[in-house]
Amino acid sequence: ASTLPLFPFDNSYARLPAPFQLRQRPSAATAPVMIRFNRRLATELGLQADRLDGPAGAAIFAGQDLPPGAEPIAMAYAGHQFGQFVPQLGDGRAILLGEVVDRNGVRRDIQLKGGGPTPFSRRGDGRAALGPVLREYIVSEAMHALGIPSTRALAAVLTGDQVYRETVLPGAVFTRVAASHIRVGTFQFFAARGDVEGLQRLADYAIRRHYPAVAEAENPAAALLQAIIERQAALIARWMSVGFIHGVMNTDNMTVSGETIDFGPCAFLDAYDPAKVFSSIDHSGRYAYRNQPAVAQWNLARLAETFLPLLDADIDKAVEIANDQVIGFAHLYQAQWLLRMRSKIGLATAEDGDAALIEALLDAMHRGGADFTLTFRGLCDAVTGNDERARAQFSDAALYDGWAGQWRARLAREPEDTQQRETAMRAVNPFLIPRNHRIEQAIAAGTAGNFAVFERLVDALVHPFDEHAEDADLATPPRDDERVLRTFCGT
Ligand code: AMP
Ligand code: MG
Ligand code: MG
Repeated sequence: ASTLPLFPFDNSYARLPAPFQLRQRPSAATAPVMIRFNRRLATELGLQADRLDGPAGAAIFAGQDLPPGAEPIAMAYAGHQFGQFVPQLGDGRAILLGEVVDRNGVRRDIQLKGGGPTPFSRRGDGRAALGPVLREYIVSEAMHALGIPSTRALAAVLTGDQVYRETVLPGAVFTRVAASHIRVGTFQFFAARGDVEGLQRLADYAIRRHYPAVAEAENPAAALLQAIIERQAALIARWMSVGFIHGVMNTDNMTVSGETIDFGPCAFLDAYDPAKVFSSIDHSGRYAYRNQPAVAQWNLARLAETFLPLLDADIDKAVEIANDQVIGFAHLYQAQWLLRMRSKIGLATAEDGDAALIEALLDAMHRGGADFTLTFRGLCDAVTGNDERARAQFSDAALYDGWAGQWRARLAREPEDTQQRETAMRAVNPFLIPRNHRIEQAIAAGTAGNFAVFERLVDALVHPFDEHAEDADLATPPRDDERVLRTFCGT
């Protein structure tokens, strides 16, 4: 077995010409040490997990050793950052080692984040500090366990080098696994250069890799755009259904695959507040919780603009197709949101008044300062007649009781029995989410050299729908002195 390659690489993006990508080796690391290796994911990817789980793996995942078959590249992309277009961003602190086809036949990227500078680094150092590496590990794996499409965490390593931010911090590298790293901003990169041939080539690549059925469509470009819009509608609805705030929904942080990417200043809601913003750099609240669907649509409009030359030779026709699809996002999103939220309150059938019933709950939660996650989890008890835990989330019990009366009247018209409903609700309303204060505690301990807090959190978040008594402290909202007020764009 030791003759098998560590990584069965097959690097399709590296075969694309410049300016899609530039060759770039990762930098040396002084003293690589493994923090955590995701053996289960490694096995799913067809990697030699036993040989990677140790010093050999640490050296590879720190960028020190290049595994056989890797063809490291930095990908080019552009993007709107807080509404401002930047025609060239690119992988400034990320290097794609290569791709593997996993055990399910899905091609996945293996990328080092923090592996040193690239031609796209601008004034950045290409490095990552330990904190953001731990945060991305925790949150991306938690998203996956919650059933939300997300890039994954294969490894976190210390490099043994220091990075210089506001303070001196331990350097680390995060190994990200993604369905691909093609972003809305990748299309924008070619559109901004007026490179229609590059756009067509990128679209063809995206179809082959992510939406092969689209190749048969009468207008493949239109079908590709539609497919991307549908996946984003489903993704954002899932975010909203767990109280996730991405925090930096720039067009370079929106994938074409429909996976969540870039866990910088992201955070989950504790108490429900639709206007909530955590990111220290989001001064205008552009990426507030409630704005996420509209921002997604704005980003998709930027994507649709890049598609115009591909959609039709007649520009008026192309604009009409693009417009219809971008407008259609709103309906697709609303349908996906209703699907998720109905199941969260235990509804298996659809009635016209359901959206209003859900909005009424959210409004009561907002006014009552109710914890988002624990309220919905409490409703799983409430369907069996025990309202205590749900009610306790509201500063004023009458807010809950008033709503619960309407809810029970609606549940009475549902066909399922209580047992089925409770089981279904417990499978969609998590007990555990990666709460901000727990992430901060894991980072603080890790920065001081203790990774036990991080390990415990990651292990617990593998099963977010199970209720284990020993995880109770991880499930509760922060005390006042634990509350995280701001999150920072981690580099
Ligand atoms: P992000 O905020 O993570 O979406 O990154 C936006 C852009 O800044 C991307 O082009 C990154 O590659 C680049 N960038 C962020 N941090 C660094 C860094 N430490 N060194 C070089 N480039 C960086
Ligand atoms: Mg990014
Ligand atoms: Mg980032």
